Amino acid sequence: MAGWATKIEGHTIPISTPGDYFAYTLREPIGVVGQIIPWNFPLLMAAWKLAPALAAGCTIVLKPAEQTPLSALRLGELIQEAGFPDGVVNIVPGFGETAGAALAAHPDVDKIAFTGSTEVGKLIVHAAAGNLKKVTLELGGKSPNIVLKDSDLDRAIKGAAHAIFFNHGQCCCAGSRLYVEQEVFDRVVEGVAEEAKKIRLGPGFDPATQMGPLVSEEQLQRVSGYIEAGLADGAKPLCGAKRYGDQGYFVEPTVLVNVRQDMKVVQEEIFGPVVTAMPIKELDEIPPVANDTIYGLAAGIWTRDISKAHRLAQQLRAGTVYINCYNVFDAALPFGGYKQSGWGREMGHEVLENYTELKSVCIGL
Ligand code: NAP
Ligand code: MG
Repeated sequence: MAGWATKIEGHTIPISTPGDYFAYTLREPIGVVGQIIPWNFPLLMAAWKLAPALAAGCTIVLKPAEQTPLSALRLGELIQEAGFPDGVVNIVPGFGETAGAALAAHPDVDKIAFTGSTEVGKLIVHAAAGNLKKVTLELGGKSPNIVLKDSDLDRAIKGAAHAIFFNHGQCCCAGSRLYVEQEVFDRVVEGVAEEAKKIRLGPGFDPATQMGPLVSEEQLQRVSGYIEAGLADGAKPLCGAKRYGDQGYFVEPTVLVNVRQDMKVVQEEIFGPVVTAMPIKELDEIPPVANDTIYGLAAGIWTRDISKAHRLAQQLRAGTVYINCYNVFDAALPFGGYKQSGWGREMGHEVLENYTELKSVCIGL
């Protein structure tokens, strides 16, 4: 992101109005930026937010999540040590309902950038209306991950497990709905369940641990509630579907089959290590079911057929489509949501639009 600081440019524009004019645009910092971030990747979320806003020349008030303020505060110390002028970066921990809401509503804040739940994203939009501050939102997801029968199945199985279980599924773009072509359904879901059973759960400080606990008691209750709702609706677990141990907030990686598209576990963001899997008979069925949630953050496709891959990539209503890979993030690659997964994009050169205003300058010669 530091590289952008010297590449924020306007254009000279030949205009057709009769007369003699010279016109150009300037891209200027948007002003004071409020940033509100979640707990699932505390330091990374702070970096994704702070870096482009700084490159664009903005000043920032950043509110970390109540569960994870310390890494952001430490980053703030390092920012001071690095010699940023006082007041450029302000880290203000506090609760969402108070500190977050005050930031979103504040008349002297020009822009609010939020990452978190779709529910709170809507509150941010309302709060921002007072001074019509600019808003970008990176919200929830319920991303489909599609395995076609011609794919490299071993790779697809490992990829599908990684897509949902990475960071315990506490990932906005988690591949939480698996759709598998009928002929290979059993092999793929059993393979993903095998991968799930191999994951070693344990305390985060133990180097042998592959999956730690969920972030909080609240999140444990939430995820457990979804699993119970799924089982009550008739879903069958191939693995997991229960708490691990009786201490801490551990949930076993879970694969649910025998699910229907209208079930809560298929429609709503769980934000835990829980994947639902459904068979697909015809390729034409894929876009309507894959697109059938309020979200549109990411999608995955596993196939060796380039025509199918590219056609599906066009048909899926998602901000990122991964083909034969998943969870690849890069500072150069825009990331963000269609539909209720958000407004605007993080990263790429598109992120600069979040933090700049465009000024047209017109001179009569
Ligand atoms: P959340 O409530 O959306 O929290 C995200 C951030 O917004 C936190 O900093 C939070 O502050 C703040 N916030 C809460 N209410 C606010 C308000 N009225 N005005 C301004 N800011 C406000 O998410 P959560 O409670 O941590 O998690 C709940 C669910 O959201 C999860 O289970 C998951 O489904 C989803 N989620 C999605 C993402 C994502 O990346 N898309 C990330 C986290 C959670 P506090 O410090 O008080 O929480
Ligand atoms: Mg919260």
